[in-house]
Amino acid sequence: ETLEEFSGKKLEGLEYEPLFKNELEVYDEIKKKSPNAFTVILSKEYVALGSGSGLVHCAPGCGPEDYEVGRKYKIPPFNELDEHGKFKDSMGIFSGLVAKKDDKKFIEIIKNKGMLIDTTPVEHEYAHCWRCKTPVVYKTTEQWFLAVEKLKEQMIEENKKVVWVPDWAGTRWFNSWLTDLQDWCISRQRFWGIPLPIWKCKKCDKIKLVESNEEIKKLTGKKLSNLHRPWIDEVEIKCECGSLMKRIPDVLDVWLDSGAATWATYEDKKKWSSIQTDFILEGKDQIRGWFNSLTALSMVSRGINAYKSVYMHGMVNDSLGRKMSKSLKNIISPYEVIDKYGADTMRYYMIGASKPGLDMNYNFEDMKLKFRNLSVLWNIHKFLIDYANNFEEIDTKIKTSNLGVEERYILSVLNSTIKKVSEMYENYRLNEVPGAIEFVFIELSRTYIQMIREKSVSGTEKEKQAVLAVIFNVLLDTIKMFSTVAPFISEHIYLNLKEKFGISGESITLQKWPKADEKQIDE
Ligand SMILES: [Zn+2]
Ligand SMILES: [Zn+2]
Repeated sequence: ETLEEFSGKKLEGLEYEPLFKNELEVYDEIKKKSPNAFTVILSKEYVALGSGSGLVHCAPGCGPEDYEVGRKYKIPPFNELDEHGKFKDSMGIFSGLVAKKDDKKFIEIIKNKGMLIDTTPVEHEYAHCWRCKTPVVYKTTEQWFLAVEKLKEQMIEENKKVVWVPDWAGTRWFNSWLTDLQDWCISRQRFWGIPLPIWKCKKCDKIKLVESNEEIKKLTGKKLSNLHRPWIDEVEIKCECGSLMKRIPDVLDVWLDSGAATWATYEDKKKWSSIQTDFILEGKDQIRGWFNSLTALSMVSRGINAYKSVYMHGMVNDSLGRKMSKSLKNIISPYEVIDKYGADTMRYYMIGASKPGLDMNYNFEDMKLKFRNLSVLWNIHKFLIDYANNFEEIDTKIKTSNLGVEERYILSVLNSTIKKVSEMYENYRLNEVPGAIEFVFIELSRTYIQMIREKSVSGTEKEKQAVLAVIFNVLLDTIKMFSTVAPFISEHIYLNLKEKFGISGESITLQKWPKADEKQIDE
């Protein structure tokens, strides 16, 4: 029977009486502290339009979404479940019952009170342990937080100074993460981990943060040889009240040490408090991860950001753009590729194929093309070494008067590429680098070497020397650049050239980055 029709707005603020108001004293305490408890609130955050209309029970102590809504309406989290899932003594007739396991007993009690209208099975989503798939119960616990919300505005300002590649990763993604930033829970209830260095008095609850082993020695008379659990837990500190302080049993969130990664190794305070890392590189999943932990911890500890620039890359999908997964059986193992085509091929292909911030679709055909390009590079060096065998005296110095138009062309390609690639690296346009360098050695092989075929055999001595010097120098500068993309083949070619031409320098990685000679660039 319909008694009245009205919109939900009219219900806001209406109060209801909890089922066991008379049996459980705790309700009165809650109501006294927060008048919004046991009333209808209108929260738009977690309402799904597809689920019909009605009232949803909100328990701020039993789940993160409800907690957030409770926080907004000043209803504190309430949860009287202990660590074993048992209801505490404060829960009167329910004390001793176990959550989930004793569902039937709860229903019995409600039924016996004459408050149950009906029971029906309802299919709905429920939280399960990600590992063993057991249903779990959310429970509010006491934790330690870093009050980073207070630093939000400063962090947003600091972030504006960071060079992000792509720029939208910083101006949109990370900026919006910081805008919604919440205090950082840094405590964990596990055995392994960095012990939280907080001691608490058994009697007066006074707390003490201990900064170093040195301080432990000052407070207790002896240093620890191992600062981990269980040894650290044996340290007892005398409290001002005369009683003893014991360490709280928690360990630190592992993200906390990741957040100190760029400055933690400096012992000198002046250094660690001011050092800013030039460049970090990580995937787009790290907005809430490493990018965040570095920024937050650095701001808390030092008031500046940890890094000056960030390159954010995407994820690797299959060739159709689908996420790789066990169930789709579309996982491409890097080893499968490396074993068949080599690590250089994989690096060369992937650096070029992944646009900043965007996912890449792993395409075997494109990868194989890069593999073939590496053969082209390899063959140039074989050709050069063979060609050098025709000379009694090897002279690799470029002499301007000996250069023909073919030489001037390829030297222009080389020098304009050195200039371009240097700019790309300066501006973190990493994905453009392989293609630019590749252009030089493909041109060297397919254009220059084709054009000088005849000259290299039947030309004058000066012409032949020019060919030798130009191939040698173009190849050497090319592999110096290319060693950042394909280090193995570059080093191998370098060592062969070193043996044949007597280059000094043990490894290509010890060579200086080539400098562009503007005079040789002819657009
Ligand atoms: Zn589990
Ligand atoms: Zn005390």
